[in-house]
Amino acid sequence: MEYGKKGVNTICTHVGGVKDERYKGAISPLYMATSYAFDNIDEKRYPRYFNTPNQQALTKKIAALEHTKDAMIFGSGMAAISHSLMAFLKAGDHIVFQQTLYGGTYNFATTQLEKYGISYSFTEGWEVTDFETKIRSNTKVIYIETPSNPLLTITDLKAVSALAKSKGILTMIDNTFASPINQNPADYGIDIIIHSATKYMGGHSDICAGAVAASEGHIKRLWESSICFGGSLSDQTVWLLERSLKTMGLRVKAQTENAQNLAVFLDGHHDIDAVYYPGLKSHPGHELAKSQMKGFGGMLSFELKEGMDPSEFMQSLKLIKPSMSLAGVESTVTAPVLTSHALMSKEDRELQGIKDGLIRFSVGIEEVEDLMADVEQAIHQVKSKTVLAR
Ligand SMILES: *Cc1c(COP(=O)(O)O)cnc(C)c1O
Repeated sequence: MEYGKKGVNTICTHVGGVKDERYKGAISPLYMATSYAFDNIDEKRYPRYFNTPNQQALTKKIAALEHTKDAMIFGSGMAAISHSLMAFLKAGDHIVFQQTLYGGTYNFATTQLEKYGISYSFTEGWEVTDFETKIRSNTKVIYIETPSNPLLTITDLKAVSALAKSKGILTMIDNTFASPINQNPADYGIDIIIHSATKYMGGHSDICAGAVAASEGHIKRLWESSICFGGSLSDQTVWLLERSLKTMGLRVKAQTENAQNLAVFLDGHHDIDAVYYPGLKSHPGHELAKSQMKGFGGMLSFELKEGMDPSEFMQSLKLIKPSMSLAGVESTVTAPVLTSHALMSKEDRELQGIKDGLIRFSVGIEEVEDLMADVEQAIHQVKSKTVLAR
């Protein structure tokens, strides 16, 4: 069966299960064994070798979803990111990171790489020229994230990949925000596609996992060093992740639709100063996003009107929960100033365009009218409290 030719929801439901030969059950049997008898020493199975029946089956689903030949699953998104960086970089190498990155990746870059003799640069923007100017003779990897956190900036996949290829540089992307439903970077020549499966792949706020999709050659190299680093995922969670992926297409489509409607609603609201969502025509990356994404995703950010307190607003919400994480079926909000970007100085934040009143919204699958009503009543509460305080 040629999986790549199947529609996305068919891949989600049918590809990459463990067949229940014995009882013909509808779902994958779960193999928890950490010890497997072998006939041949070359065929040894072990969870940390990333080759248990459930692990192997799930990689087929992820590879099919990302249009790559192979994939691997890890114990967390950060395990997927760190194992990928360590597999393809060595002492003396240099890496170019996109300016705006997931906080954990930024931390890994700034606290870990130097001690292994790996140097790095951050771009000053998202244009392909911003990447080009940072390339050195020893640059081995360009690492991007699009859409990015929290302003949903868009990086040109095709242009960055062409630039890297012309110089023999490997490209890596954190594709978590888009999910494989809304963006397939392999179609644009990106080499290593990384996911925090804790987010849209898991989707129910009950799984911590990571995934990497790439060519067979790249996965082989990643596997060779990953069995040393040891960041494999428990088979119980592998099994749960397979279950979650069956509905990923449906979930992400509903979240994307809700996010688009909410973005339009917020954009027209007189108590909201700005809305950042690539699905809005006013977003600077809109045309580019349209050309490389299948949907604009379930994440958006917005700024409350000057003087309205973001923590007050978040505490006033009744249905939508303030939370660090994202991409669950339930809607959540966070203020980057208080969480992911709290350690950055106000000056640095403003340089990146992150204002104090900014709120990041992870849109769930609820009825969008209920989400709008919750936002409306919270704004009303904040405004009446602000008036009382005067
Ligand atoms: C959450 C997240 C990560 C890290 O994933 P963990 O599963 O928490 O280790 C990496 N990148 C992005 C964009 C994320 O949102």
